[in-house]
Amino acid sequence: MSNQVLKLNKMEIEKVIAAYANVKVTRNAPGVRFAAKTSDTAITVYNSGKVLFQGAGASREAGRFGTIEANKKTTKPKTPGEQLPKNFATLSVVGSDETGTGDFFGPVTVAACYVPADKIELVRELGVKDSKQLTDDLMRKIAPDLETALVHSILTVSNPKYNEIQQQGNSQGKIKALLHNQALKHVLQKMGDVKPDHILIDQFAQRNTYYNYLKNEPEIVRENVVLSTKAEGIHLSVAAASILARVAFLNEMDRLSADVGMILPKGAGPKVDEMAAKILLRYGESKLKTMTKWHFANLEKARKLVAKKRR
Ligand code: MG
Repeated sequence: MSNQVLKLNKMEIEKVIAAYANVKVTRNAPGVRFAAKTSDTAITVYNSGKVLFQGAGASREAGRFGTIEANKKTTKPKTPGEQLPKNFATLSVVGSDETGTGDFFGPVTVAACYVPADKIELVRELGVKDSKQLTDDLMRKIAPDLETALVHSILTVSNPKYNEIQQQGNSQGKIKALLHNQALKHVLQKMGDVKPDHILIDQFAQRNTYYNYLKNEPEIVRENVVLSTKAEGIHLSVAAASILARVAFLNEMDRLSADVGMILPKGAGPKVDEMAAKILLRYGESKLKTMTKWHFANLEKARKLVAKKRR
């Protein structure tokens, strides 16, 4: 269960109480001024001015009223000195996120998009929340609206391309860094003279490592860049980017599945090994290589399964 705490002023507190007046519940705990319960979130207003949001919808509901202050474990950037402004969730931010890095089948995709302050409410209305709370089907429905509404860039690295870059000695971390930088660059270019307040990258490496990966790039996006883990809960731009990246991944998985006439499983577990073995038997190694991340351990496991079946 997710917990979010906001510290709000008197006026903001009144707004919270008004917003949930129709779902008010009685809670006679010490220090509690007001309590309410929606279908997925419990809201508690304390006399201290703190407001606690609990439940699956906690981040979303808290985000309506301010920037998440507590729950530091999930919202505080790892790198010291990267303190986010208190009102970060309400600022104009370009966010980026990637998908597919842990899946044997399918591409790596990275998306970046710009959510200006005046579109935050719209993006929320379109159904964007932490993508870990959304199903694939729902994300497929939301993505076209996001693409229409937001300046964005979506990069899909096909498996042949990925394998080529990886075999040249580039780590997956480096590949991700190059893609994030590229997608951010595209979005900033499309924005022209408009400058975001911040750029927020869903963090997969320490800041130094991230920029070290990019050191040979001709153009590196640095200005106002914040890296944070769980960034999809910090600003909707990352949540939206995460949906765009995920749907791009799903679309490519659909294409690859149609190509072999079987639904390719996600992840890197035993089901994946079995499917890979099936494809090896039916189509051979060169075909399998066009749809997988060749350096994953799944390849050897699939080869062993094939050897067993042939015995
Ligand atoms: Mg991520």
